[in-house]
Amino acid sequence: MDIEKGIRFECQGSGNCCVSRGTYGFVYLSKKDIKKLSDGFKITEQNFVKKYCQKTDGFIHLKELKKNNGNCIFLKDNKCTVYKSRPIQCRTWPFWPENMNTKTWNNDIAKNCPGVGKGKVKTKKEILKQVQIDYENELNIRNKN
Ligand code: SF4
Repeated sequence: MDIEKGIRFECQGSGNCCVSRGTYGFVYLSKKDIKKLSDGFKITEQNFVKKYCQKTDGFIHLKELKKNNGNCIFLKDNKCTVYKSRPIQCRTWPFWPENMNTKTWNNDIAKNCPGVGKGKVKTKKEILKQVQIDYENELNIRNKN
């Protein structure tokens, strides 16, 4: 992984990033995410949280159901059923700050995400923008914003 040269990435719709994989399992939600998703369902934010969310260590994330193997509840037939209003964490994948080191990228991300190496080259500037968006989203989640 050499960010200076850019990285080819185009989502292949594999759904691999939506299945439960240890630390990548939870889809945490910021207030902005909850607003967007509840608007998408045309229900109140309160009802959305009640119906589709869980809390772990005080942080809200999408519910994981055992019968669904712990995969995202919105993943159906390997497709995201809330794609237009999907959370920021899903939009910025795979350009998360914690993924942007050669070891994690090569051993985990590139091996599990078929979008890596496909499509147009994302420039360093484009990648860093996604990393920044994800970083700010994580701060918002930590600060319950
Ligand atoms: S919300 Fe959609 S994109 Fe995000 S993990 Fe769930 S199925 Fe995947």
